[in-house]
Amino acid sequence: MKNLISVSNPVKESEYGKILFSDVLVTNKRNLFMGRKWRTHDIRMVLWFLFIHLLALLAPFTFTWGAFWAATFTYTLFGSCGLSVSYHRNLAHRSFKLPKWLEYTFAYIGLLSIQYQERNNVEDLKNQAFYRFLKRTYALHTIAFTALLYVVGGFSYIVWVLGVAGTLGYHGTFLVNSVCHIWGSHVWNTGDLSKNNWWVALLSFGEGWHNNHHAFEYSARHGLEWWQIDVGWYIIRFLEVVGLATNVKLPSKDHKLKMSFASLNKFE
Ligand SMILES: [Zn+2]
Ligand SMILES: [Zn+2]
Repeated sequence: MKNLISVSNPVKESEYGKILFSDVLVTNKRNLFMGRKWRTHDIRMVLWFLFIHLLALLAPFTFTWGAFWAATFTYTLFGSCGLSVSYHRNLAHRSFKLPKWLEYTFAYIGLLSIQYQERNNVEDLKNQAFYRFLKRTYALHTIAFTALLYVVGGFSYIVWVLGVAGTLGYHGTFLVNSVCHIWGSHVWNTGDLSKNNWWVALLSFGEGWHNNHHAFEYSARHGLEWWQIDVGWYIIRFLEVVGLATNVKLPSKDHKLKMSFASLNKFE
């Protein structure tokens, strides 16, 4: 649990470098995390990006309503349950707990989105056979998923789901890591450039409330105001109500006060 970000020991984004075209954060001690294979992996990812962008260009020529809805469904399911709820909030930040069968199901959806998330909590995941298995075999799952798309809907499904939904999905993640450090409101005293951006939040299932997230990284809820639409949180809250999500972490009043700009004068 060494790499788990906690309030008392925050890992600042400025201490990390970012790999080109991705939101992968690496420190200088890169061997600590993934070993030497990582660079080959980067190249593979760039080729993969190229491939799905080229596929997306074929979208107008392969349009069917079936393919369109398959892409919409995939973008929504993978982006919300896979990336936002599972990879980011559950696995990277341990913002809540799920029964193992559901944690693994969501993580599997996340795996099929083939995206990286923050490298928090890596050691903990490495200790679980299921995640080691996924890491070793993720290419096979991608191939199986592609084959499934072909069987169900033919080439147009591959273009729309892998190409269109995949490309949009990556850009959704990039928006959080680019736009949300440039445009939006900075309401918490986080000492960085993170911003809350409502339209990125809509496209990314709540991940766009990025200043909130920098302020309270452990929080399962990113949209902290009632009007801050946060689909990821609605899913977690639903799972909590039906008794599946437990230990759901939210910012305390004290911590909110500490992070607010108003507290600056009081404590100085
Ligand atoms: Zn950030
Ligand atoms: Zn995070």
